[in-house]
Amino acid sequence: MRNQTERQSWHLVLVPCPFQGHLNPMLQLATILHSKGFSITIAHTIYNSPSPQNHPDFTFLPIPEGDISSSPDIDIIDLLLGINVNCKLSFQQSLANHKQILKQQDVEEGIACVISDELMYFAEAVADNLRLPSIILRTSSTATFLARSALLQLKEQGLIPFHDSCSHEMVPKLHLLRFKDLPLSIFADFERYAQLIVYCYHNRTSLAVIWNTLDCLEQLCLMQVQQQCQVPIFPIGPIHKISPPTSTSLLEEDRSCIDWLDKQSHNSVIYVSLGSVAFLSEKEVAEMAWGLANSEQPFLWVVRPGSIHGSNWIELLPKGFRDGVGERGCIVKWAPQKEVLGHEAVGGFWSHCGWNSTLESICEGVPMICRPCFGDQRVNSRYLCHEWRVGLELERLERGEIERAIRKLILDDEGKEMRVRAKDLKERVEVSTGKGGSSHNYLNELVDLIKSF
Ligand code: UDP
Repeated sequence: MRNQTERQSWHLVLVPCPFQGHLNPMLQLATILHSKGFSITIAHTIYNSPSPQNHPDFTFLPIPEGDISSSPDIDIIDLLLGINVNCKLSFQQSLANHKQILKQQDVEEGIACVISDELMYFAEAVADNLRLPSIILRTSSTATFLARSALLQLKEQGLIPFHDSCSHEMVPKLHLLRFKDLPLSIFADFERYAQLIVYCYHNRTSLAVIWNTLDCLEQLCLMQVQQQCQVPIFPIGPIHKISPPTSTSLLEEDRSCIDWLDKQSHNSVIYVSLGSVAFLSEKEVAEMAWGLANSEQPFLWVVRPGSIHGSNWIELLPKGFRDGVGERGCIVKWAPQKEVLGHEAVGGFWSHCGWNSTLESICEGVPMICRPCFGDQRVNSRYLCHEWRVGLELERLERGEIERAIRKLILDDEGKEMRVRAKDLKERVEVSTGKGGSSHNYLNELVDLIKSF
């Protein structure tokens, strides 16, 4: 480690995983570190590459992943395993060239550190080869980390596959979680999924772990993780709240929904979005549509193109639905979600409970209807409903149940109590991210650590 005063500038290479829920926190982290005086290179796959125009201060380094991403039948797990194999050599070459270029540009000290998404473990291996310090960014909650580790243990004990993966029975030694809340993948068989978890969790060589979570939400899990972890951890979340505003969307945001929200009354609108990966069948969409219509509440619904099986966009919505709801419903392809959640007209968020959406809703004090689809969304939903008590669990995607949940959240006393708790949680998060708060302090320590490399 060097004396900090010897060094004039610090250059960081950040390696995001190419999915919206992973790109967002990594690009936001890059923006934070840039504001702290670091210069930034984003090394990215061609697949889902971020837009350089949105980040004129960063250098972008494409790392070709080969033809795996264009294969029509590939699932997410195989894509991730494939990226880690295919990108290693090209990243090593690019990084070596990049070091050379920095030298030519008189960036004397070269690269201070490589920060990579936990799923991009090839980047850590390359950093090791080039004798560069590295740090991992984990973009999910610590509860999910512990639950995924528990899955590996259950496998060792021969308890997977489960007799009943919808069981309400509690998982031994795992706080709060039932078997039905375990973060199983729907994309791949358990063997390949477990292989990916092992690559992400075991034998890591990075010098520290950054976590997009915070003390006031996950104190117990964080303590457990710190006990298991050999290196320092930095829970600096919610990263989007600390980051200066930056555009990180892969899809174009439709801002017309903000004009529509401006016309709605306070706390009346239910905002519906299932994130960037989840998809629905035609039957599920029909139940959602009629549940929204029958609730008689205004709604803003993000239907991502291609997210309904068998259609490009909203062609398969039930006949008569759009005319029936008229101006009471606004449907867009992609929304400026953080702004939507911060709008005073929004009274609730029906979400798939991705970790970013969870944090964004908590930060705006918006209570949720939780309908997780797969993976960590189940863990987040359980915590939202039973730990922080700011979410209602939607057990079945059925129109009557949906209608009741929306009315309960927006109109009933139970919903109002949840909104009070959500506002309280929002304030606690603000304390953590403000000067002297835990996330603020961890961020300063992280910056000091990087500068000491
Ligand atoms: N998002 C958005 N506009 C939308 C829907 C989602 O900007 O219309 C953003 C959202 O703010 C969040 C991310 O996409 O930051 C989704 O990440 P999350 O972890 O919630 O779910 P995932 O997409 O990974 O399942």
